[in-house]
Amino acid sequence: MSTAIHPSVDGGVRKGVPGFTGGTLRCLCAHDPVEVRIGAQVAFNHACGCTKCWKPGGAMFSVVGVVPREKVSVTAHGEKLKVVDANAPIQRHACTACGAHLYGRIENTGHPFYGLDFIHTELSKEEGWDGPGFAAFVSSVIESGTPPSKMDDVRKTLRNQGLEPYDCLSPPLMDLLATHAAKAKGTYREA
Ligand SMILES: [Zn+2]
Ligand SMILES: [Zn+2]
Repeated sequence: MSTAIHPSVDGGVRKGVPGFTGGTLRCLCAHDPVEVRIGAQVAFNHACGCTKCWKPGGAMFSVVGVVPREKVSVTAHGEKLKVVDANAPIQRHACTACGAHLYGRIENTGHPFYGLDFIHTELSKEEGWDGPGFAAFVSSVIESGTPPSKMDDVRKTLRNQGLEPYDCLSPPLMDLLATHAAKAKGTYREA
């Protein structure tokens, strides 16, 4: 049995087009949409089961990835944007009218992911974005109402779409976090 994960996963995951250099994210408002220009291909794009990331209506997961913050610029109707939770490590700038999250920014310069903004490429009409490559925080979908008994189906569906399910982040990202922590503690060794 297959479970609906997210529109960019359910119909098959797309690979990025070589040489693709970004596009424009638009919120869901029919009038005066917020526009954010992204000048780079997305990296570490993934399905995320956490309760903080923005999901389109009916989706169990969000699809979210990162770009360098200097490649993100608000080009229209920035007055509609508001930070969802100013105390969260990732400040998610959302449209106050339609609720879509345009970008998430880390302002703490000591954070391991400082310098990267989190974006949802489904808000862009351009084709060529790299699709999700893994699934993170999979068990957290239980917190948004998925019955625990469905989790075998959820993980099987993710694997069938080529998305390895993890209950935290993927091993390369967990290694980046631990490397950052080791450097802060002085225990980091090159080899
Ligand atoms: Zn909007
Ligand atoms: Zn998330």
